[in-house]
Amino acid sequence: MKVKVVTHILEANDRIAAENRKLFKESGVYVINLMSAPGAGKTSLIEKTIRELSGDLKIGVIEGDIAGFDDARRISNLNVPVVQINTGGACHLDANMISEVLGDLPLKELDLLIIENVGNLVCPAEFKVGENIKVMLLSIAEGDDKPLKYPLMFEESSALILNKIDLLPHTNASIEKIRKNSLSLNRKLKIFEVSCRTGEGIGKWVKWLQSLIK
Ligand code: MG
Ligand code: ZN
Repeated sequence: MKVKVVTHILEANDRIAAENRKLFKESGVYVINLMSAPGAGKTSLIEKTIRELSGDLKIGVIEGDIAGFDDARRISNLNVPVVQINTGGACHLDANMISEVLGDLPLKELDLLIIENVGNLVCPAEFKVGENIKVMLLSIAEGDDKPLKYPLMFEESSALILNKIDLLPHTNASIEKIRKNSLSLNRKLKIFEVSCRTGEGIGKWVKWLQSLIK
């Protein structure tokens, strides 16, 4: 019985996600669903990406957090349209939450919409929101055991961004192990090594992103 309920929720979500997808397509906006554990650096990556690409692309952002407006404030400092969703306890964004705020964004003017999901390595991967691709961020400091512990996130993502590589000498994490185990789950996964703090590797990521949009 419980399984049935969950199935219904996901089916209803997929229907709304398909409507969002249609609207994004009609508006000519490419959409990324950005997922990670709390503190991996999602907002920092968005800031870096906007700084690199805003001369070239019109970018909008949807911030998802359980509570608070800090991330939307950070993004609005960069003068791009941003909407903050507070889920009020829910640990992921769903298609309906996204649908409800789309009227607050100038979709037709945008080339790229980045949706920052709630920090969580589990259910954000289960709920489509109408995105073109899912991208996940894993900070080196979280440890190299995450791909095999949270496989769905790695399976569903088109790109994995390994952040905080400047911290590598201070951890026991093995990038090689992360790469090997991530690729064993998803052979097509594109992997980038970056540091949002130093800017290392950001160029390769934004170049790849740009190639998807144009
Ligand atoms: Mg954030
Ligand atoms: Zn959740």
